[in-house]
Amino acid sequence: MRHHVTLSRALLVAGLWGCTTQSTPPVTLPSGASRLPVDNWLDVTATLAAGRTPVYDGDAPMVFTFLKDMRKGDALTLSTYALGAHSGTHIDAPMHFVKDGASIDKVDVAAFIGSARVIEIADSVQQINAAELNRHDWKGAERILFSTRSTARGWMDSSTFHRDFAYITEDAAQLLATAGVKLVGVDYISAEQFAAPAPRAHQILLGKGIPIVEGLDLHRTSAGDYDLIVLPLKVAGHEGAPARAIMRPVNTGISVTF
Ligand SMILES: [Zn+2]
Repeated sequence: MRHHVTLSRALLVAGLWGCTTQSTPPVTLPSGASRLPVDNWLDVTATLAAGRTPVYDGDAPMVFTFLKDMRKGDALTLSTYALGAHSGTHIDAPMHFVKDGASIDKVDVAAFIGSARVIEIADSVQQINAAELNRHDWKGAERILFSTRSTARGWMDSSTFHRDFAYITEDAAQLLATAGVKLVGVDYISAEQFAAPAPRAHQILLGKGIPIVEGLDLHRTSAGDYDLIVLPLKVAGHEGAPARAIMRPVNTGISVTF
């Protein structure tokens, strides 16, 4: 319904413009091209907000400041925010754990746009190891996103940092890397076991040039295939950046909440 309201307002505005300005010719798409439909996209991004978004133990706090504020009588509203590169929904570039790895601005956006499969991991499972992975239909998927206990418990929408989030083990990371997946995603702020003796999942995936999207909010999705667009900020020379992520189911058998 909201789409219809927006559309009619857009048409109204376009109509008003049409009265007073020269009308623009319609855009002609090359044959075979299709417009990107605006329907059915789910926002799977965690909201960035102090006191709401979890921050990994020891990472920088998020600080949001209004320098000017129209609500307080200023002529405009102007703000700044300071936050860690791994805040909320974000992408780890190879540089995060590979010494000469690519920084986030150098990662090809092809990894961030395309088909993705959501794999649901039971609430009781904390270790996503090779055996757990192979209990699911993951082979052949280009991008794999794990929906875990973190989603079930709403942890990306709670400022409390939980250490017992589900994580990817070394053998599962190896399977995914060998299979040539283009992107791996998780629904909490790290894909690695908390206080792991070595960051093996990161080293294996990033070592193969496979970016990791962390901190997805998958509470409106269920297992199945989706189109995914997740685009990190293009920050030069840094190892990660916050991103906006949207998904839409590619078949009607998937139950989602709009
Ligand atoms: Zn990260």
